[in-house]
Amino acid sequence: MTASTLHVPQAGPGVGEPVLEIENLSVDYGYTDDATHVLRDVSLTLHRGEVLGLAGESGCGKSTLAYAATRLLPPPGLITSGSVQFTGRDGVRTDVLRQSDAELRASRWQDMAIVFQGAMNSLNPVYRIGRQIADGILAHQPRTSRRDALDQAAALLEMVGINADRLRDYPHQLSGGMRQRVMIAMALALDPQVLIMDEPTTALDVVMQRQIVEEIAELRERLGFSVIFITHDVSLLIEIADRIAIMYAGDIVEDARAQDVYRRPRHPYSSALLHSFPPLRGERRELTGIPGAPPDMQKMPPGCPFAPRCPHATDVCRQVHPGLTPTALAGRDDVEAARRVACHLHDPALVGASGLPDELAR
Ligand code: SF4
Repeated sequence: MTASTLHVPQAGPGVGEPVLEIENLSVDYGYTDDATHVLRDVSLTLHRGEVLGLAGESGCGKSTLAYAATRLLPPPGLITSGSVQFTGRDGVRTDVLRQSDAELRASRWQDMAIVFQGAMNSLNPVYRIGRQIADGILAHQPRTSRRDALDQAAALLEMVGINADRLRDYPHQLSGGMRQRVMIAMALALDPQVLIMDEPTTALDVVMQRQIVEEIAELRERLGFSVIFITHDVSLLIEIADRIAIMYAGDIVEDARAQDVYRRPRHPYSSALLHSFPPLRGERRELTGIPGAPPDMQKMPPGCPFAPRCPHATDVCRQVHPGLTPTALAGRDDVEAARRVACHLHDPALVGASGLPDELAR
């Protein structure tokens, strides 16, 4: 995209302020009394200019959260409560869940865009990629001429590292990494403020994964959008995210700055997840994995969902569901003040009695 066609915002007013506030969002699959509760009162805030990583095992609700927040949840998914507040560049807050269909159509891709899991396979095989990008632009900006839309498509391709002369290629002429870049270019075509990426690099080899992650980071820096980056690979998030939220069985169990999750995970599940991947730097450590399996969402245990797999579980854990709150160490420093954890071990009322296990108290 040439400088004249690409909107390049400078860091300015609003950077660091909330752009997307998901509050007490609950989602069921099914409409009857035995519906499965896949998200339970999830609250999460994305700040302007931030990359927020969302990590957890398959089936924990990460993708459901993305689909619900963008009103793209397919049946039998049903949002049962909550709100998704989006704050525009003009400072006006809108609850996405209460927008009319027309309002939603107008704002989709311009305010929030999403790159789906396996999106690179959703390019139409019989149309050239230039046409596919241009069609997306024209659908939202019908007054734009096709010539201008194609010029924008060429600039978008250049922006994601693909030579503009590939505009006339069909999808099968591009590698997997290039097709995924095309999808990122399409998502950025209308200059969204929020980009949600659902496992955008899962189908790619590790070298290509790294390249794409670096490109997303560079584009975010240059264009100033905010990102929710969803993956089961928490080690990838350490590379790109400013903040990481760890999900388990439909709950956020830890929400903290990325380096703090990496160096000092507080929730036993975060700690176990990090010990499931080789460290990127520093000493080698033994990979331990996580014993057992995530709970059946239709038969959730009454207390902490992680209790059957947690080495620190106590009777209170098996009876009382822990909420996501600041920890007993919140007063210690800024790092701890910025962290929230859903675990009784960190409940200020309980920590005094037993003390934290060493590996969670550093
Ligand atoms: Fe483990 Fe109890 Fe914390 Fe759950 S609440 S993670 S079972 S210590």
